Amino acid sequence: MRAIRRFTVRTVLPEPLAPLGELALNLRWSWHAPTRELFASLDARKWVEAREEPARMLGLLTPEELEALAGDTAVVARVRAASQELDEYLTSDRWYQHQSDVPRTVAYFSPEFGIAAALPQYSGGLGILAGDHLKSASDLGVPIVGVGLFYKTGYFKQSLSRDGWQQETYPVLDPDGLPMTLLREEDGTAATVTVGLPGGRELHAHVWRAQVGRVPLLMLDSDIPTNDERARTVTDRLYGGSKEHRLQQEMLLGIGGVRALRLFARLTGSPAPEVFHSNEGHAGFLGIERIRELTSEGLDFDEALESVRAGTVFTTHTPVPAGIDRFGRDQIETYFGGDNGVDGVPVEKILALGAEDFAGGDPSVFNMAVMGLRLAQRANGVSRLHGVVSRDMFEGLFTGFDPTETPISSITNGVHHPTWVDTRVVDLVAKHGGVQGDGSDRGSVDWASVGDIPDEEIWALRRTLREQLVVEARRRVRRSWLTRGASPAELGWIEDAFDPDVLTIGFARRVPTYKRLTLMLRDPERLRSLLLHPTRPVQLIVAGKSHPADEQGKRLIQQVIRFADAHDVRHRIAFLPNYDIAMAQSLYPGCDVWLNNPLRPLEACGTSGMKSALNGGLNLSILDGWWDEWYDGENGWAIPTADGVDDPDHRDDLEAAALYDLIENSVAARFYDRDAQGLPRRWLQMVRHTLATLGPKVLADRMVADYVGELYAPSARGSHALEAAPDHSGAKELAAWKKTVVQHWHSVRVDHVESGDLADSPQVGDQLRVDAYVSLGDLGPQDVSVQLVHGRVNEADALADTVSAPLEHAESYEGGRHKFTATVGLRRTGAFGYTVRVLPAHPALTSPAEMGLVANAG
Ligand SMILES: *Cc1c(COP(=O)(O)O)cnc(C)c1O
Repeated sequence: MRAIRRFTVRTVLPEPLAPLGELALNLRWSWHAPTRELFASLDARKWVEAREEPARMLGLLTPEELEALAGDTAVVARVRAASQELDEYLTSDRWYQHQSDVPRTVAYFSPEFGIAAALPQYSGGLGILAGDHLKSASDLGVPIVGVGLFYKTGYFKQSLSRDGWQQETYPVLDPDGLPMTLLREEDGTAATVTVGLPGGRELHAHVWRAQVGRVPLLMLDSDIPTNDERARTVTDRLYGGSKEHRLQQEMLLGIGGVRALRLFARLTGSPAPEVFHSNEGHAGFLGIERIRELTSEGLDFDEALESVRAGTVFTTHTPVPAGIDRFGRDQIETYFGGDNGVDGVPVEKILALGAEDFAGGDPSVFNMAVMGLRLAQRANGVSRLHGVVSRDMFEGLFTGFDPTETPISSITNGVHHPTWVDTRVVDLVAKHGGVQGDGSDRGSVDWASVGDIPDEEIWALRRTLREQLVVEARRRVRRSWLTRGASPAELGWIEDAFDPDVLTIGFARRVPTYKRLTLMLRDPERLRSLLLHPTRPVQLIVAGKSHPADEQGKRLIQQVIRFADAHDVRHRIAFLPNYDIAMAQSLYPGCDVWLNNPLRPLEACGTSGMKSALNGGLNLSILDGWWDEWYDGENGWAIPTADGVDDPDHRDDLEAAALYDLIENSVAARFYDRDAQGLPRRWLQMVRHTLATLGPKVLADRMVADYVGELYAPSARGSHALEAAPDHSGAKELAAWKKTVVQHWHSVRVDHVESGDLADSPQVGDQLRVDAYVSLGDLGPQDVSVQLVHGRVNEADALADTVSAPLEHAESYEGGRHKFTATVGLRRTGAFGYTVRVLPAHPALTSPAEMGLVANAG
């Protein structure tokens, strides 16, 4: 093979058009329609040829064309106006600038980022969420810096073989042609980050910077000449390769990522982050690197750990064990010990952070989620239900506590509406006065105002969006069949496939087993009759990628395709290959109903249904993730779950049957229920209700504001308390205190509890006095909190619905014994019970379970 030397010639813009350079480079164009319209207006044909990507578009314009545009005063004026508008967006005060006591900078680490189709650095929901997080942070003015990897081939491109088997290709991205720039030293050379590898090898990376509105996104790229051949492939693709490859990627992301941030701060003068947010466990080594930094400043490991914990936020995204990264302990020993070990960060300490040293754990593995929880003082799941599931899942880390006390809260995901809402929907709301400015400011879309939009207008828009999807689906089906080897002569039927007036259901997502792509095929005849119903037909658009190594996922896709290929139904159901942001943006607005049928409760949140809802779609979903929280009986349909049916086949049968019934008797019945003017009034009522009530909740703006208020700001305060004092004295004091408490905890116990007399038949409102005699050994009463835990006594003779109330220190005796006392009012009828427990107490602790220490009354 002949080696090809490649380089990209950057466009030189004539001076009057120079601002187009920044407008193309700043990814804000991906969610700012006026900027896209400006580029489209330069040359409509080339805009399409450039796949609607500004940087590519500029590359397609010839010098003569550019000169002609530069001589057109109207064009130049529009370019200048757009540039001023962008400057204003980048520099004006926004929501965050009106908040007080918030961090100066937050670093947001994620293994994937889905910003735009032009930058394919994502596989699915996790990446799209990270992209939406950065975009909303930008719109809100939150000073975030994103940190990730630059994967040379992204995830993969999906196509189909003749017999419907997923084919993967890995087109190589040319970083010079993408909207990003290389971070450079003052002398112009590429800035480099280095991470040590075993055997004396080194892994180097350059740092690409993409600009997401106001938010810089740093992406590390190992494909550089100073690396040996193996090291060059570390960032070759997302979620490919062996465990070892994955470990190297995660070391580069976590350790290299912190180093890239330091580099970025040095070169741009931007402030150091006060809070580090790890989106899933993959970036967890960022905490190890920050511990290393602090130990080099003289702290010991445990002191550094306290400091790092205070400033770290960890978000867990999956209740599926296979979704959690685990490495062999031996791999960690090789990569963080021996000749690659680092002073101050002994490998035994690292191993302890990721050890599954709890009931049911595997002693041979190193668990990244477990390390994430131990390195972050604040952690959350991504919907209310996922919070509950996560607290149960990780309760083993906090023995002696009720699962409800596991220190994991939840913030429900949201979606970035300027990215996901079709501009015609925004235009319609704007026409009726419901949008301020361009709609990208927090609260600038008044969703409740859809109540004033006439039914006819909403329905007409819904038809337009459905029709656009029909056209797009035909185009994609045609292209797919050509790839699958069909000849154009065989494809005449596609011109009439799908119908802009038929109820359209969408189902698109990754294809892990728990999402049950093929639940709809459980009873193929039943599905066929729904699709071909003489008066109330349904059409289905299906899409999704299977991980390349997941043969079972590929078989599921093939089953759908075999069904959809049949001549009698192929005009009503199709599998569209290569689900990505570009497809998603046309899919969500066009679907009347968004279907989701995961195995409850394995869908942590799900966000595609939110995007559908914001476009006037109705959700038809299992009560899982966000739908469990916000389904209200009027905004869509809940597919009943057969929770507790253990036989998975039987469960699928039951849930599929319920799904068919719902589609036929509720969904289609309502969609086709028309009045004299041909309008489905009750359907439209549901659409309006969905927009008005879900609209404000499902937004990434709401999500990011929640992160700021509930996690970032408290984390920055906690971190200041430990670090701001001279020489990290807060962290040192906390680490020393924890050591003492752990050492002496064995002598802490509740000796004896006495209660005051109650009436023979106590009533609500009566007071109960409790005295607890407690031994604390060498600890003092200020080191502990003694709690009265009271509640209802349930059928199993255990306490339920408990509340904790503090007991006050009353007296001290010889030998480290103390009396604590409290009085509680009885507030509930029925069986009442209580117990007393002792916990460590320190102002820097954020949860009773944080240290995993408790002494309960015997
Ligand atoms: C929104 C989105 C997802 C995530 O959807 P889920 O409902 O969480 O499965 C995945 N891929 C793309 C392209 C998306 O736009």
